[in-house]
Amino acid sequence: MTRHLNLLTPPATEQTTRTHCPYCAFQCGMTMTTQGDAMPEVRADPEFPVNRGQMCIKGFTSAALLDHEARVQSPLLRDEHGVLRPVSWERALDYVAERMLAIREAHGADALSAFGSGALTNEKAYLLGKFVRVVLGSSHIDYNGRYCMASAAAGQNRVFGIDRGLPFPVADIAEAETLLLWGSNCADTMPPIMQWVHRQRERGTLIVVDPRRTETARQAHLHLQLVPGSDLALANGLLFLALEEGLVDQAYVAARTSGFDELRREILGYTPARVERITGISSDAMRKAVQLIAKPARSMCLSGRGPEQQSKGSDTVAALANLMLALGKVGKPYAGYGTLTGQGNGQGGREHGQKADQLPGYRFIEDPAAREHIARIWNVEASALPKKGKSAYEMLDAIGTPGGPRSMIVFGSNVVVASPKSGSVRKKVASLDLLVVCDSFINETAELAHVILPITQWAEEEGTMTNLEGRVLLRRKARMPPSNVRSDIEIMSGLAQRMGHEERFTYASTEAVFEEFRRATKGGRADYSGMTYARIEEEQGMFWPCPSEGHSGTPRLFAERFEFPDGRARFAVVPYRAAGELPDAEYPIFFTTGRYKEHYNSGAQTRRVDKLVDAKSEPRLQIHPRLAERLGITENAQVLVESRRGRVVFRASLSVDVRPDTLFAPFHWGGRLAANLLTNPSLDPTSRMPEFKVCAVKARPIDASSEVVELLFDSKERSDHAAS
Ligand code: SF4
Repeated sequence: MTRHLNLLTPPATEQTTRTHCPYCAFQCGMTMTTQGDAMPEVRADPEFPVNRGQMCIKGFTSAALLDHEARVQSPLLRDEHGVLRPVSWERALDYVAERMLAIREAHGADALSAFGSGALTNEKAYLLGKFVRVVLGSSHIDYNGRYCMASAAAGQNRVFGIDRGLPFPVADIAEAETLLLWGSNCADTMPPIMQWVHRQRERGTLIVVDPRRTETARQAHLHLQLVPGSDLALANGLLFLALEEGLVDQAYVAARTSGFDELRREILGYTPARVERITGISSDAMRKAVQLIAKPARSMCLSGRGPEQQSKGSDTVAALANLMLALGKVGKPYAGYGTLTGQGNGQGGREHGQKADQLPGYRFIEDPAAREHIARIWNVEASALPKKGKSAYEMLDAIGTPGGPRSMIVFGSNVVVASPKSGSVRKKVASLDLLVVCDSFINETAELAHVILPITQWAEEEGTMTNLEGRVLLRRKARMPPSNVRSDIEIMSGLAQRMGHEERFTYASTEAVFEEFRRATKGGRADYSGMTYARIEEEQGMFWPCPSEGHSGTPRLFAERFEFPDGRARFAVVPYRAAGELPDAEYPIFFTTGRYKEHYNSGAQTRRVDKLVDAKSEPRLQIHPRLAERLGITENAQVLVESRRGRVVFRASLSVDVRPDTLFAPFHWGGRLAANLLTNPSLDPTSRMPEFKVCAVKARPIDASSEVVELLFDSKERSDHAAS
């Protein structure tokens, strides 16, 4: 029998619970008030120090998903006619366990795989890593954070020896004299952060680097609108100018870093003339920028997905860290370098074992000491733990190849929309012998599943999340879930019991998972061992590392040392190289992707919220008027955009906010409107991040719906369309 977690008594009267938004890494504090069957009411929490009473439209409408009519209310199993039919939990879990055991028996443990998510709580991310390594015995586990924060993580680990998105609280932003926002449109993606940016901007200088004049860039004193994919050249070029103009902090470099002489030799090749040719940014603008960044004591650079989601994203992160180190800013008050994490638990989700190369506490799976430590906690032999597996895209791409996955269980991720070259990924996922999707809704990935297991949503369970500052938060349960859904933890436990590991997956509560998890992190770089639910709640979140119960947590890193044995940061030599694919005669235009403020990631949740869909109902192709005129495209025209990997028809929005050599579309939609049908899976060699931000396309207007059908649909779909 599956063990169920302790559930709170349902509220008979009005009850208000402090919790957090289900979406992005800002993890706004919110209160949720429930009473009877009425839709819960959410308000921004004025007491929570990160968002201080502000939220965005996604947070304000988040409760609409709880009682949504499309919510899956029972396990679904595909029958012999291919129809998904409701079955009992016993039947569904028995079926999944039996099929997984049979596949493992026939094809080996690596035929089983799991795909996790940066939306999972720390407890779930931890348990998923344990489930795959111990119960499945497979190396095939990765998660959608590979598509989000992997380059930020790799770059920071390389230079600082540790990866915590922001090494300081978000409130420090307000005190910076110069703020350099590099490839982040945070005014749209996490609007409450702008209260800190606006305070900074009132007293100092805001510089934004972005190929588009975004809502964030519009507010900048200086906007560097660079060529897509040229960020690394620009970062190196700014360091060249800092050297030329005597702005490098030599005393800081000597005292706190290593490797500068080698870096200097590389940087000497980044003359303003060369960098201007690559980036399109004038040398005057570069000189102005470097003065504005170098001169004030309190100067801060924060990067987003723009420079990171490239095939050289980890090098670009390292180059930005190089720049801020050379200027002597890192570890100083209200200064330094950080990355703005995207997904709700994008930080915690990348620390505790759902990455292919990782064990809990930010340990690496190939490290013998790490294997011994975790094996003791899990009560298994270290030699039994699998080795490093494949990164997200590589694991998906390996489906159908010798040694590749034949079964996949997916938690909290819409992989067929979120992955690059998504048409190919969809075909691969559809060919699996067993696809199990644990979700609240039937998204584009779940449509392909053999089994769908309906799960509790954020307000119906408790658990910890780690926000973009490295602050660990407690999400309290605010209401009862529907009667026939289960948490991801219950699902993993239920399968573990059926697959012979009951004693290792028996937990009385989510807090009991946390207790094991914090022991597992002890001594790791992301050490949570001093935290308890009571402390986290009482202190409005706690910053890791927190290595003992007497420790108060670490809001600011690097004041005295970096996380290498000698305490010094390590400059990284990172030569510029071009994107994996550049415009050419056949595909002459850059294509880049991004976000709308109304939608979140693959849109699996937000495309179901009426207010959000009313506000933004479709992806629009942003195109500069000069390019539009050259291509014969007018406002609202249907435009066929083609890359070497796929084609999409978007409606056009003419705007001078995008470069005339670049097209932009958001990636929140699936099916025929998936921007990722076009994107390039060229991977960063270190982080294995796909190149979502740069590829080459061609575009032309099409004006007959019949032509759209002809171009986009296969022959069966065409005859269905004709019949309808
Ligand atoms: S989506 Fe992000 S910024 Fe918006 S309310 Fe939620 S946590 Fe806050």
